[in-house]
Amino acid sequence: MVKIPPHFFDHQRDVESQPSAVIVQNETKKSTSNHNLKKLYIKTYGCQMNVYDTQRMSDALAPEGYENVDTPETADMVILNTCHIREKAAEKIYSELGRMRKMIEKKNKPLKDSQKTKPIIAVAGCVAQAEGREIMRRAPVVDMVFGPQSYHKLPEMLGKLAKGQKKVLDTDFPTEDKFEALPEAKPANIISRGVSAFLTIQEGCDKFCTFCVVPYTRGAEYSRSIARILNEAQNLVNAGVREITLLGQNVNAYHGKDDAGNTVSLGGLMAALDKIDRLDRIRYTTSHPNDMDQTLINIHKTQKSAMPYLHLPVQSGSNKILAAMNRRHTRESYIEVIERIKLARPDIALSGDFIIGFPGESDADFDDTMDLIKHVTYSQAYSFKYSPRPGTAAATMDGQIDDEIATKRLHQLQQLLNDQQRQFNQNTIGRTLDILFERKGREAGQLIGRSPYLQPVYVDAPEAFIGQIMPVHIESLGNFALKGTLLD
Ligand code: SF4
Repeated sequence: MVKIPPHFFDHQRDVESQPSAVIVQNETKKSTSNHNLKKLYIKTYGCQMNVYDTQRMSDALAPEGYENVDTPETADMVILNTCHIREKAAEKIYSELGRMRKMIEKKNKPLKDSQKTKPIIAVAGCVAQAEGREIMRRAPVVDMVFGPQSYHKLPEMLGKLAKGQKKVLDTDFPTEDKFEALPEAKPANIISRGVSAFLTIQEGCDKFCTFCVVPYTRGAEYSRSIARILNEAQNLVNAGVREITLLGQNVNAYHGKDDAGNTVSLGGLMAALDKIDRLDRIRYTTSHPNDMDQTLINIHKTQKSAMPYLHLPVQSGSNKILAAMNRRHTRESYIEVIERIKLARPDIALSGDFIIGFPGESDADFDDTMDLIKHVTYSQAYSFKYSPRPGTAAATMDGQIDDEIATKRLHQLQQLLNDQQRQFNQNTIGRTLDILFERKGREAGQLIGRSPYLQPVYVDAPEAFIGQIMPVHIESLGNFALKGTLLD
């Protein structure tokens, strides 16, 4: 079972991160009763936005007769939904494609030529966007390559292959809205993914942090309209979803239009979503400190459905490094935002991202980061050693840090973050928290749910409670999760 992090990246997360390093997840919702259905296997790498994209690709292919399976061996189509955040991301995809080629050869070996088959192999996501032509050149097994902005065109691309076109490459940033071109997800598919759902409201980024590939792979900032988001949220809730995490590379820069053509911020969208009956919990990720406006902060004070958890990456505690990263905020302005948030919602659980060993990081810069962490205190956080991404400004900067030094600093920092996480969890022991039950636990009669602070909690409870929110008395803390008992 793969752990999905509670949010995605800002934006090197999921590598070398501490406890909840992610990453690979398969979209599985099998029902093999109809033998005419074609089988689809999607392997998802990286962030929650990719998890959401995978789900929407499944939705786009369902009308074409595809159903999901959980292994590639029997699939008629395999999609690798890739992530460019990890170091050597492209090389890992080529290795996976090599395994696919061997799998196909092995399957076909005992067969006569006339019986030989090959699934359609597609590479999607950010590596596809960045290296489309190169993938086609280096991996002949691949039939289709398409970027994150093109998955709504999957039926059209399949049509081209069916008509005899040998390869399909689509890494354009199209002018049409991919979200609006996608079919609505079916209720059965929605609920098979759980009572907590992702909903992408914003994509792309205009900030150009010097370490980050997102502005190049996902393009400029784009916000979906309020009406479309409300419609999708209502659809999710109608299917049984109780919690929605709004996704965006820069989610709090959201600026969608309402029906009257007025621009609405994330705070306005949260207020509109709050009116949906039975949508009990709303989260959002990932945010930039500069876009944390007062309207949004106030929502955490006034709106019950706004969960007391915020992922607000800072990356470094040194102003020198923040400037080199082109973060456009300082250590002081970040702390000022945190103080305003804590004023609005004193119990808020804070999460962050840290990049250690960025070019030019001295011992004093690292000490500034440690000092900032001690000052803010996090309920959990993600930390990584800096590694250069081709095409980004930081990749060619002077002062690249020796790996041994970066590793030592990372361990020191993770020790501090782990201690803070443990302390945060320990502080909830003895409290009664509302838990949203999400799925069955490993032991019989056990369910796993989430606290408002996004902590996993194990509780003995009947399966029928999945999808319900109930008060639980928190009693103990294991390695990664809390344990509690139902109040009644
Ligand atoms: S703000 Fe934009 S450029 Fe900076 S890390 Fe986030 S996605 Fe990347």
